[in-house]
Amino acid sequence: MAGRDTEEGMYWEKDIETMNREDLAALQLERLQKTIGQAANSFYYNNLFKEIGLKAEDVLALADLGKIPPTTKDDLREHWPYGFLATSKDELVRMHSSSGTTGRATVIFHTQSDIDSWTNLLSRCMYMTGMRKRDVFQIMMTYGLFTGGLGFHYGAEKIGALIIPAGAGNSKRQIQLLKDFETTVIHIIPSYALHLSTVFEELDMDPQDTHIRIAYIGAEPHSEKMRQKIEAIYGFKAFNSYGLSEMNGPGVAFECPFQNGLHIWEDNFLVEILDPATLQPLPDGAEGELVLTTLVREGMPIIRYRTKDLTRIIPGTCPCGRTHRRIERIKGRTDDMLILKGVNIFPIQIEKKLMEIPRVGKNFLIILDREDYNDQMTVKVEVERQFFQGDLKHLEQLRRKISEGLKSDILITPKVDLVEPDSLPQSEGKAQRVIDNRKD
Ligand code: ADP
Ligand code: ZN
Repeated sequence: MAGRDTEEGMYWEKDIETMNREDLAALQLERLQKTIGQAANSFYYNNLFKEIGLKAEDVLALADLGKIPPTTKDDLREHWPYGFLATSKDELVRMHSSSGTTGRATVIFHTQSDIDSWTNLLSRCMYMTGMRKRDVFQIMMTYGLFTGGLGFHYGAEKIGALIIPAGAGNSKRQIQLLKDFETTVIHIIPSYALHLSTVFEELDMDPQDTHIRIAYIGAEPHSEKMRQKIEAIYGFKAFNSYGLSEMNGPGVAFECPFQNGLHIWEDNFLVEILDPATLQPLPDGAEGELVLTTLVREGMPIIRYRTKDLTRIIPGTCPCGRTHRRIERIKGRTDDMLILKGVNIFPIQIEKKLMEIPRVGKNFLIILDREDYNDQMTVKVEVERQFFQGDLKHLEQLRRKISEGLKSDILITPKVDLVEPDSLPQSEGKAQRVIDNRKD
């Protein structure tokens, strides 16, 4: 086990976490050059580098990164599944994919060394917040292709904690497990944490009456107020965890005990904040799109990945002593991706499905609400007029067909309301497809 508590703080890898900025920049440059060499083995980057006339040895300074056009999710999709692969398939030990998206989900491949460095990042994050060998860690996130479950699992195992791999859902069982085994740390989606508290109430139990002292909340945007609410309900500390499948998953940026922004691990990722319109770099403090480059990936290096997440670098240093810069909690996204119960959904996915179903009219509206701390999606769908004059049974059949069709595509069962043609608001410009009523 690498971790050690010193007088100055709690570090998993003190040398790296507190490395001075000059040494960190030198390490980054060395790793960037290696990454570019490695990326050139992939079909995608090989072509790209040829197109722009770039050779690995041309990258002499971190600023040279700006010569390479950013990579987008569409690039990954268009070169699905192996276009970004930079090693032989024999070297791969695991694949993951981005949550919620179906069909051509983004697929990420890892070698053993990729898994090891990802695992180490998660150990670093959790150790930083105080997880130790003696802890009992209940993971209430989905395992499988989704990165949340397995990512945290391996990291905690490396620390030596006892893991309860509960997976997502089944609230009563979650509560039973955390009572029976005296869980001290949990990993949970913020909206689900609020929902779970209502189940405590139903069971006539007090959410404060557990052994949980730490929670990791992430995978979806949430406000500071929401964090405070979760902390107040349960009486534990909730740390914000940020990541995305393309950059492994969780473990990209994480809050330290000072909870004043998320340290982004700059020995593993090169961080840029770009103006999303001009793609020009912005200085520390200015809000823009987070763009990340992997620095230690073998299987699938990704250079200048546009996360679409909006944030800023918080200027100044953190009292915890870590030198890796901090990003502010994610403000929102530059695209229209919705995140519901941790699942990513694009309105276009809903539109595509609806448009495949006969008798569906031309307009629809997605409404997001938070009832009992549980996120709900309602889809209002215009249908052909004759439906409203005919048999109610047919309406009900259509409603069910839409609901089931959507469920199979977006993995969430929305409430479906059928409405008459032209009854939904029409906008003159870009259609407003989503009304988000979710509040903290
Ligand atoms: P995951 O499998 O972890 O959900 P995805 O790649 O499917 O990863 O989704 C990643 C996206 O989820 C991020 O780009 C971001 O928009 C959102 N996200 C993840 N963690 C957070 C967080 N702590 N706060 C806000 N948004 C987050
Ligand atoms: Zn800190």
